[in-house]
Amino acid sequence: LEPAFQFMLRVVAPGGVATPAQWLVMDELARKYGNGTLRLTTRQAFQMHGVLKWNLKKTIKTINDALMTTLAACGDVNRNVMSGPNPYQSEVHAEVYEWARRISDHLSPRTPAYHEIWLDGEKVVDSKEGVEVEPIYGPVYLPRKFKIGLAVPPSNDVDVFSQDLGFIAILEDGKLAGFNVTVGGGMGMTHGDTNTYPQLGRVIGFCRPEQMIDLAEKTVTIQRDYGNRSVRKNARFKYTIDRHGLEWFTGELQHRLGWALEPARSYHFDHNGDRYGWVKGVNGKWNLTLYIQSGRIQDTETSQLMTGLREIAKIHGGDFRLTPNQNLVIANVSSVKKRKVAELAKQYGLTDGAHHSALRRSAMSCVALPTCGLAMAEAERYLPQLLDKLELIIDEAGLRGEEIIIRMTGCPNGCARPALGEISFIGKAPGRYNMYLGAGFTGDRLNKLYKENIDEKEILETLEPIIHRYAKERQSGEHFGDFVIRSGYVKAVTSGLNFHD
Ligand code: SF4
Repeated sequence: LEPAFQFMLRVVAPGGVATPAQWLVMDELARKYGNGTLRLTTRQAFQMHGVLKWNLKKTIKTINDALMTTLAACGDVNRNVMSGPNPYQSEVHAEVYEWARRISDHLSPRTPAYHEIWLDGEKVVDSKEGVEVEPIYGPVYLPRKFKIGLAVPPSNDVDVFSQDLGFIAILEDGKLAGFNVTVGGGMGMTHGDTNTYPQLGRVIGFCRPEQMIDLAEKTVTIQRDYGNRSVRKNARFKYTIDRHGLEWFTGELQHRLGWALEPARSYHFDHNGDRYGWVKGVNGKWNLTLYIQSGRIQDTETSQLMTGLREIAKIHGGDFRLTPNQNLVIANVSSVKKRKVAELAKQYGLTDGAHHSALRRSAMSCVALPTCGLAMAEAERYLPQLLDKLELIIDEAGLRGEEIIIRMTGCPNGCARPALGEISFIGKAPGRYNMYLGAGFTGDRLNKLYKENIDEKEILETLEPIIHRYAKERQSGEHFGDFVIRSGYVKAVTSGLNFHD
């Protein structure tokens, strides 16, 4: 008798794009082999939980038959490449998405072992060194995972500074001139170990679009060759950069590329969240952005979200876009179909999220318990309850329409990018969290520890007076994260290197 081991499957979707046919496949697999729900991740990928061991192979094969893959969704390789989710908002978004897809393809592992194991491919015959199989990763792959994101200002929805390698689109005369390049961001850390810390990527220069793939490849090879392979907790690219210095990195990069980056160009971000509702793209097609609580697609006693999206997928001629904030865009809807999509969205209550407070709509959490083995505390299941209580305070303070970025994770690995929340909670133990304040509204400043190991009562007692003070004393246009620094609650963190000071 074999124990019923169950697994989580993650499916990559560069830029978060899935066709209606692919959506229907994921929906069916989740109900047939998973736990009946789908989860949209903070990296624009799909997660399916509860797949039993003996259903793994047929699930992965069906995913591959639908031209999707679980390859490189986990592991010490380049992960799902993120890009702003609404390419049809402008021609530039479409172009940027296309570059995200090309980078993803280029950095995808070449190993045939995946096909051999999961798709009944031919037996793998590898070279001794493994370099013929993996020209970029080599025989031992990377020291740790590697993350890439592409942002199109003014939206920093991909949290570009949290990426190992980030690209900020630079538009000139409405056209894509190229990208500013950021390196060395990352969110994870370990409680009690000050050698680990979240860090923001730093802008090192500008490159042309056609130079991106070469740049991404050489950056990955530098991390492959210089990343720390002895201490896994210090293996991420951010530590390689901080250990050797930015100057060393840009010199090494230039040496491997054979060309130099141009000076960085000016850009401006004004938010990192999603904008909900219908928007018409330059191609004349429509896009509907839906609020999805913690990215969880499911039917419950009070919601028919999963059914509603299935019904839309059956008639939708455009595509779906998973956003970096775990929401969903029903994208590229023709004017003819718009009415039908809007009717279905209304019928199944998909647009009800528009009535939530701005605080709730700006909230993000990781999976945590019960399906993440690393979780120390609840996140996805608890954040909505905490928000119910915080909303009472927010309403009393007259801040229902005020966007405050709030994030929660069950451990300091940082899957919901908690170091970039204006208010964040990182799990310490069941029911207890470290509370951080003061990140930048546009994802450009890390937050700082304010209270350690507190429970719900203390969370509410701590935040209530700060929120009321913010309502009364904030300056015009001042965001919550800036206010708590100006008011002296926390010091501004200027680098991950002083995160623990
Ligand atoms: Fe990621 Fe930690 Fe949350 Fe698990 S508990 S999903 S590892 S942040």
